[in-house]
Amino acid sequence: MARPTWPSELLWKLAQPYEVVGHSVPATASIGLASYPGNGSDFASLFKSVEIAMHRAQAKGRDCLQFYSDEMYQQVLAHDQMVKALRSAAALGQFQLAYQPLVDLQTGQISGMEALLRWHHPELGQVSPAQFIPVAEEAGLIKAIGQWVLKQACRDIRVWLDKGLQIPHVAVNVSTLQFRDADLIGHVKGALAGSDVDPALLYLEVTESALMDDVVRSEALLHELKGLGVKLSLDDFGTGYSSLSYLKRFPFDKVKIDQSFVRDITTSQSDTVIVKVIVSMAHGLGLRVIAEGVETEAQCEIMRTNVCDEIQGYFFSRPVPAQAIEALFAEGRQLPAHLLRLQKPLRTLLLVDDEANVVASLKRLFRRDGHIILTANSGPEGLEVLSKHKVDVIISDQRMPGMTGVEFLRAAKALYPDTIRIVLSGYTELQSVTDAINEGAVYRFLTKPWEDEQLREHIKKAFEFKELQEENQQLDIRIRSANQELVAANRQLGEVLQQTQHQVERDNTSLAIVREALQHLPVAVLAVDDEGLIAFVNAATERLLASDGPTLGDELALALPTIANLVATTGEGAASELVIDALHYRLRWHTMGVSSRSRGKLVTLIRTDADV
Ligand code: C2E
Ligand code: CA
Ligand code: CA
Repeated sequence: MARPTWPSELLWKLAQPYEVVGHSVPATASIGLASYPGNGSDFASLFKSVEIAMHRAQAKGRDCLQFYSDEMYQQVLAHDQMVKALRSAAALGQFQLAYQPLVDLQTGQISGMEALLRWHHPELGQVSPAQFIPVAEEAGLIKAIGQWVLKQACRDIRVWLDKGLQIPHVAVNVSTLQFRDADLIGHVKGALAGSDVDPALLYLEVTESALMDDVVRSEALLHELKGLGVKLSLDDFGTGYSSLSYLKRFPFDKVKIDQSFVRDITTSQSDTVIVKVIVSMAHGLGLRVIAEGVETEAQCEIMRTNVCDEIQGYFFSRPVPAQAIEALFAEGRQLPAHLLRLQKPLRTLLLVDDEANVVASLKRLFRRDGHIILTANSGPEGLEVLSKHKVDVIISDQRMPGMTGVEFLRAAKALYPDTIRIVLSGYTELQSVTDAINEGAVYRFLTKPWEDEQLREHIKKAFEFKELQEENQQLDIRIRSANQELVAANRQLGEVLQQTQHQVERDNTSLAIVREALQHLPVAVLAVDDEGLIAFVNAATERLLASDGPTLGDELALALPTIANLVATTGEGAASELVIDALHYRLRWHTMGVSSRSRGKLVTLIRTDADV
């Protein structure tokens, strides 16, 4: 049987605007259809089926019709079941927070964590937040769930702090409906106070869509939240309006670039451009930028080179249970050095001691710090190593046969002044080292026997000192090259100026020559500017018109009406005859501006009736 067309017609008829007191009012309908007896054998069950179908029509965007199906019924049932289960999930302890670390691309260290809600239902199993959060929003349960999340995050922070963990901030997601709720401020305050947590440890993540229904109210609310001392991130940036003016207006601290731009960044040029633009835009406004969903080293590398501040994603860590966070911190997990924004070069340590076992145990001690380690058994051997490798820090024993430690380090200073030189020796030898310290050959004197951790700390400081020294050198080089560029630019400018000046001088000279030549020309030459004023006359013209006495600046039409008239009535370049004081002349005129910036007309008068 063909599908009846009457419902579509009905929809169309209903969609026609109605006339109400002179106004045209549009209205649309959503139609649910169920058939008897297949979808219900009595009125109540049939009506229920119709309602289900109608709700689906509404959900599909209205102005449409929807036939009832059993699958629809199953979905409604599942939905109702989920709402019911969600209502008691918190009370039954089925909720948990997982935490995903955020990593700083500058230091390589964990800079924060995002709290992500997890729901484990005994029958439904692990339900994804992407699935149940929209259901909770629709069923009006999200405010209570959101409040639970805030409280739990603060409780977890308190536990970590009490255990002495130096935890950075924790970010909590705030849903759109939660953001519209007047109680949000109270809930945030309550959660912080309840666990005695510093507001500065809490970030709230808000999406753009939450801000857009009521921009004025959003702005006020965000400022009020900032007033509490919490920080704010703009979540899923790039998926909504992404308006720069809003970014400027709202007091965010951080922008989170949405996963969808990160996913294909290694192959998509447009995504790379978007990320670049977001980063520079955000940095221009003083905001930090984090990329979400970074899964691979290649993606991380792109974020690094595009000076993103932080990354979050499976590449560094999946979301983990609260307990696992403790292990992550204890282990001191961080990004490998080659992925940091400024890559640190490998450092080299030279160990010099005549006792092989001392060299061996020092080597063992420093191996875990990731330096390149070189060794030598005497001063001369040490100098040999220095001649072949770039060394940053030297540790030398003082008492060695042949060449003492101080003698060796003096020689090292003379040849390689940028090395950091340390003597490791018995306390009794301090006296023999003092001079060397005073003259700068030795940076530090450390005593044997040593305390492992203390020695490591000293050497760490020495490397830091070395780094500072190199940074200063770099800075110096940069300043010097910048100065050099400046001087070069100045010089170029000077040269250009000089050239221009020469050109001007040359132009002036040739102009003077031309002027002079014009004066001697037997032809009368006269220039009139744009406005018809006399701008130039040569000597011949002056002689010719002596009686009329034209002066520069006079109006041609008034001073020399005959000439003005001829110019006005003959075409450019055409000759016209005229008589002045009984002598015959041929007049021509030309427009100026072909080879000069002058405007106006050039008029020439040549005698035609006699020898000139
Ligand atoms: P979101 O705020 O964008 O959170 C990031 C999501 O990306 C999380 O999904 C996280 O597990 C996932 N993710 C992290 N790294 C990667 C990666 O490298 N690759 C991929 N493919 N995914 C990654 P999750 O936990 O399933 O949460 C989904 C969404 O549910 C969240 O998106 C957030 O909008 C919402 N949500 C989660 N917890 C809460 C909450 O407590 N309250 C509210 N209102 N919403 C929440
Ligand atoms: Ca988020
Ligand atoms: Ca996100």
